[in-house]
This record gives sequence, structure tokens and C-alpha cells, in this order.
Amino acid sequence: MSTAVRFLIPLLTAVLFLGGCEKTEPVYNSRFLAFGTLTDISIVGVTREQAETAVETLEEDFAIMHKAWHAWAPGPLTRTNNLLAEGVRFAVPPSVLTLMRISKRLSHQSEHLFNPAVGKLVELWGFQSDSLEDHRPPDAEAIARLVEANPNMDDIEIDGIHAQCSNPAVKLDFGAIGKGYGIDLAIEHLREMGINNAIVNSGGDLRAIGSRGGHPWRIAIRSPSGSGTLGFLYVSGDESVFTSGNYERNYLWKGKLYHHIIDPRSGYPAQGTRSVTVIHDNATVADAAATALFVAGPKDWRRIARQMGIKYVLLIDTDNVVHMNPAMQKRVQLMNKEQPVKISEPLGDQATAKTP
Ligand code: ADP
Ligand code: MG
Repeated sequence: MSTAVRFLIPLLTAVLFLGGCEKTEPVYNSRFLAFGTLTDISIVGVTREQAETAVETLEEDFAIMHKAWHAWAPGPLTRTNNLLAEGVRFAVPPSVLTLMRISKRLSHQSEHLFNPAVGKLVELWGFQSDSLEDHRPPDAEAIARLVEANPNMDDIEIDGIHAQCSNPAVKLDFGAIGKGYGIDLAIEHLREMGINNAIVNSGGDLRAIGSRGGHPWRIAIRSPSGSGTLGFLYVSGDESVFTSGNYERNYLWKGKLYHHIIDPRSGYPAQGTRSVTVIHDNATVADAAATALFVAGPKDWRRIARQMGIKYVLLIDTDNVVHMNPAMQKRVQLMNKEQPVKISEPLGDQATAKTP
């Protein structure tokens, strides 16, 4: 991913909307590149100056985070990965330590289907590179060797600010969680700046706080084809909506699609799912869970969702059937009324994990 992503599209525009006929309140929308994707910020309830300052601050925050969690360009995470591979005890850079801790917990809850220790597999498949042109699947034996080595977050022992890794096959790649954690930090920062009504939306993955002048935010759910809209849902208060899909990064080889979400058990792109959307109050957990449930697939998503404390799930399988738990179904308006839908048993109230 290129780090040359710092340009602010100067479109801080005030969009007027009608709230219950009598009240109008400007929504300040702005867009910049962060984590290699377009990030849209919508802010309500403050002055234009406050919104402008907030957007500039967030853009700087994202640039720092992008550098800190980049697994393939020199920085704190690559240094961490070198020390993990060496097996020595070392002081973990502060920017990596918290994500490492959170990842250990979420990995465990997901039975290691969310497994940010699979950086070497991601690299082997070539999904770390900027361009996926002319890519082809790697050698089956090389995949099997890495699966056999079984790199996972349990291989890393954290003791205070120190860590030590017992498996040289471990390579951290925070691609499935960094954006979520970054959005959580951005929301925290917005609140510190006195902003309580906003959306931070990075490439369709978002966290929304407050409301749009008393009205819920209307969120589009991406279609599994990657373009277009599958349906809508409304959020207000404080909620995150995250989607993992096989359309995000992929390549075709001999007519078969190879995508960037790897099943750590097989070493191959996860089968059976086209996309997963989850709602959760925390973006970090939502991001990791969308990836984990994608890997879990149509058979196992409920078990993993319960273990991760997720209460709202929509999964589209490779036969184009939309699976939802009843609580999610109540919130989603699908565009296509003919869409095959399968409603699961409720996820129950085992959901516990609220914050990372
Ligand atoms: P997106 O980046 O499209 O939002 P995800 O959040 O699902 O999608 O993250 C996918 C990225 O996470 C991959 O590009 C890769 O870097 C990494 N990754 C792939 N498979 C896994 C996995 N099973 N667990 C954790 N990270 C993964
Ligand atoms: Mg994810």
C-alpha cells in the first residue's frame, strides 16, 4: 500500500437537510485517503470551523496510524515482526502493544479464524502488494508448510510491555482489525474535540455516533458484488457497521477467484461466503468479527458470533442466500424483495464482549 495518501479533497461542504420540517442543521462532509481507502467524515451540530479542525486532526491521526500498523513497510510493526521471528524478549512499541493485546483476545474468541498472525500466508498469496495484476496462487507445498507451522496469537506471550514469540512462522498483519481500531480512536478524538454527532466511514466500514439532528443515520449495506446497495439500516447512538467481502481484493486465475480473506485452517481463501456485515458498538470488534465470520461461513457463523459477543449479523453465501439472525432481520431493509433469505435461530443473550 502506498503511503503517499495524504491529500485532502477540499470538499468540506455544508449539506442542508430538513429535520422534521421545522429544523435544519448542516452536515459537514469531508473526504480524504486513509489506510489506502477513501474515508468520509460527516459531522453535525458544530460550527464549520470546528468541523474543519476536526477533519484536519483526523487526517493526521490516520496518517500516523497507517504508518504504525503497516506490516510491509518499515516502521514499528515490521520491527516488531522481526523481533517476534527472532524469538527474543523485547519491549513492544506502544503503537503495536494495544492492538496485539486486543488481537490475542479476539483471536481466541474466534477460535483463531480471525488470526492476524497469518502475515506470511497473506504475503505468500501476494495480497500485501499494491497491484494484484498477473498474480497466481502460490505453490501448494509452501501453503501446507505454513499451515503446518500453525502461526497464531497464542504463540505470543505478553508480559507487561514485553513480548516473546515461540513460533518463527508468526508475522503480524493487522489488515483485518487496524481500520476498526483506527476508527474507534478517531471517534474518541472527535468526542474530545466536543463532537458528539458524526460518522467516520472508511471504504464503507463505519462507526456512527449521535444522530443527524435528532434523526438516525441511514447506512447503506454494500452488495456482495462490491458495487451497488444490498439494503439499508438505521443507526443512532453509537454503533459500528463493518463488512468483509471477497470483492475487496482478489484476482482470477484459470477462471477461479482468489480473494484476500484466508482460512488459517487450510491456508487458502475462505470458501462458502461472499460477504459478511456485522453491527457492534465497537469498531475494533466489528472489524475482526466481520473477518472471522467470513471465514466461519454459513455453517459456523452463529457459534463464532456468540463467542465474540456479536448481536447482529448478515452473511451472504456463495449461493447468494442472505443469512441473518432475527435481530438483524428486524433492522435491515433489503432492496430486492425476491432475495432468498434464511433467518437463523436467535443468537441469544450470551453476547458479552462489548469493548476490546
Ligand atoms: P477489508 O480489509 O477488505 O476490510 P478484512 O477486514 O476482512 O477486509 O481484512 C482482510 C485483510 O486481513 C487481508 O487483506 C489480510 O491482510 C488480513 N487477513 C486475511 N485473512 C485473515 C484472517 N483469517 N485473520 C486475520 N487477518 C486476515
Ligand atoms: Mg475485518
